[in-house]
Amino acid sequence: MTKQTDSIVRESLDALLEDETFLPDLKGETREEAFTSLVSILSTPNHVNKSFLRVALQNGSVVRIPAFRVQHNNIMGPYKGGIRFHESVNEKEVINLATLMTLKNALHDVPFGGGKGGVTVNSRDYDAKDLYSICKKYVQYFSDIIGPDKDIPAPDVGTGDREMDWMMGEYKSIHPGQSYRGSFTGKSVENGGSLGRREATGKGVYFSFRYLLHDFVNDRKTWLSERNSIFAKTAIKCSEKKTLSMAVQGFGNVGSVAALDAYQCDLLNNRIVSVSDRNVTLYNSDGLDIPGLVKFVENNKGDLPKSEEELKDADVKAKLMERDDILSMDVDVLLLAALEDQVHKDNMEDIKAKIVVEGANAPVTSDADQFLSEKGVIIIPDILANAGGVIVSYFEWLQGRETQFLGEEEIFNRLFNKMKTTFDTVLPQFFGDPFPLRQNCYIHAVMKLSTILYRQGNLY
Ligand code: GLU
Repeated sequence: MTKQTDSIVRESLDALLEDETFLPDLKGETREEAFTSLVSILSTPNHVNKSFLRVALQNGSVVRIPAFRVQHNNIMGPYKGGIRFHESVNEKEVINLATLMTLKNALHDVPFGGGKGGVTVNSRDYDAKDLYSICKKYVQYFSDIIGPDKDIPAPDVGTGDREMDWMMGEYKSIHPGQSYRGSFTGKSVENGGSLGRREATGKGVYFSFRYLLHDFVNDRKTWLSERNSIFAKTAIKCSEKKTLSMAVQGFGNVGSVAALDAYQCDLLNNRIVSVSDRNVTLYNSDGLDIPGLVKFVENNKGDLPKSEEELKDADVKAKLMERDDILSMDVDVLLLAALEDQVHKDNMEDIKAKIVVEGANAPVTSDADQFLSEKGVIIIPDILANAGGVIVSYFEWLQGRETQFLGEEEIFNRLFNKMKTTFDTVLPQFFGDPFPLRQNCYIHAVMKLSTILYRQGNLY
């Protein structure tokens, strides 16, 4: 687990140990002991499974590819979390991402535990046939530990419905006669996936900042102005502006969907002034043509226009800038929807945004988190903002069990209601005290997990 996730779990448990209204039956030494075991349970994964997949490629070579499936915790239900295909995947990273899944599911009351998978490959280096072989091998190596009531993978960076379909197909042939639909989520609709699953994370990310900055703040202006926290001041300041400006780092499945919704909403009035991807940052002070860029990306292997010529093809007016210039844009809202560790010690002072939304998992390091929070920047943390994917995964898993499928509108309504419930639980406390929102979310998640363990008699 990274220092950040680990130390916030510990700090949250320290705060709960001091709060005698929490688990009041635990007193004195027994209480101390119970909290020590809670720290070790929540900061250690149950299982770290790793393998080197042996894959025969079409060109005749045989490669060994590192692959992981970490099962962090199943207190709330079967292990759940995506499988990432990326060249930087490593054991430590997968453990941290699995831990975040445990906390994310607990925070939003999704009856799953936390898990995560990863394969150290750059999917752009392989064609579909070789990727299919890698997916099949992954399932063959981990088929005993995966299953609808054991551990349910889903897409993550570098994977999507195509990979989940392949993997479920392989799972089905290894386990004939067993129920298989719930073994993977994020599948195509034809293969038992849910409508809206592909867009779910981005839609949820958009919902997060809109709900916080608009619905919640507007309904409680007087209440908020009576709070003395720096974060209440930031929220009020933003809500008083006529229109907000936004920059989006990452224009993949999360960033592009959130950007498209944000572009159409009255809060921003089409003022997404900057977007970026792995190659480039685009900027236009009047706002970028987001629908035009989405269309271009769809037809260009996921890449934004990266030359004057491509901008012309896309018919989009923008200035071309360096990839990392996005982070120092003078905007109100910065949405981070790329990878982890993007805002860190060396660039944290360049951040000008007052609201940072974590569409990716762990995009802000602990140094940067502390630095920005002390300045009053509201960071809507990953486990709160990007849970749309796993929430709709849960709906998909349920629909598969009932073999009854819901319409897209119904799915999004259920998603937003679920996220609203979580926001309404954490925000009042957050605006009332000096802790950053991340800490509040962790405390809620850890409280839930600890209560379950306590009630099951696991803390004696
Ligand atoms: N990979 C997504 C996440 O990090 C979704 C996981 C899932 O649907 O299980 O939350």
